[in-house]
Amino acid sequence: QKIITLEDVNIHYGSFHAVKDASLPIYEKQVTAFIGPSGCGKSTVLRSINRMNDMIRGATIDGQVLFHGQDLYAKDVDPVLIRRSIGMVFQKPNPFPKSIYENITWGAKINGFKGDYDELVETSLQKAALWDEVKDKLKQNALQLSGGQQQRLCIARTLAVQPEVILMDEPASALDPIATGRIEELILELKQYYTIVIVTHNMGQASRVSDNTAFFMVDEGRTGYLEEYAPTEQ
Ligand code: ADP
Ligand code: ADP
Repeated sequence: QKIITLEDVNIHYGSFHAVKDASLPIYEKQVTAFIGPSGCGKSTVLRSINRMNDMIRGATIDGQVLFHGQDLYAKDVDPVLIRRSIGMVFQKPNPFPKSIYENITWGAKINGFKGDYDELVETSLQKAALWDEVKDKLKQNALQLSGGQQQRLCIARTLAVQPEVILMDEPASALDPIATGRIEELILELKQYYTIVIVTHNMGQASRVSDNTAFFMVDEGRTGYLEEYAPTEQ
């Protein structure tokens, strides 16, 4: 089942043509990996999926990104709502310099969440495989956690706003091998419930976690393009 379709997506930064004619499907509750050399446009394409490129000065996009068949760039679409359904996790863990508890509740508060906040914190941290490590120090500043814990907290923070899709831009490349392994295990656990797109430059990681792989390349003018889309070779 396709949840997202990119159709002839072209992205410019000012006059620079960063990505040319990218078309690919994203299947529901699968992991899609974007792989390719540095500068081939993986992050740029990833950010087009939740309109994060809107926040980059000079970035323009042509073509279509369909989410449940709806064009995400249509005039009546609110990018804030899109980013709620299509969450994002970055390369460098970026928890708010606040308590672990507040990191989780922040997005829910903005969204006017009326449920039980304690329960939201516990379930979100459990889904991110962090609860047991932090349940006795929820009031502690998130920046005191290890890098790997901070990244799982960022994943928990994203899960707390109930997304359908999670975009991950090299989520483990700032982490040590043990923390990386934990993130990979977590991705395999989460894909039962969520659709995941992960940018990685690590072929081994792509083969361990993904179902489908989009290989990007870059031409002589430094424009990125999709070279191949295929089931991941395990
Ligand atoms: P990748 O994720 O594959 O390393 P990126 O999507 O980050 O590639 O970058 C693709 C190309 O777009 C590169 O040439 C990069 O220098 C350029 N680029 C990325 N972000 C910006 C930006 N904000 N402004 C201008 N050029 C950018
Ligand atoms: P079962 O129905 O088999 O009892 P649960 O729904 O209780 O399974 O969940 C099993 C595991 O999956 C638990 O570790 C739980 O934390 C995790 N889990 C449940 N719902 C989600 C979700 N939406 N996202 C990520 N993990 C989840």
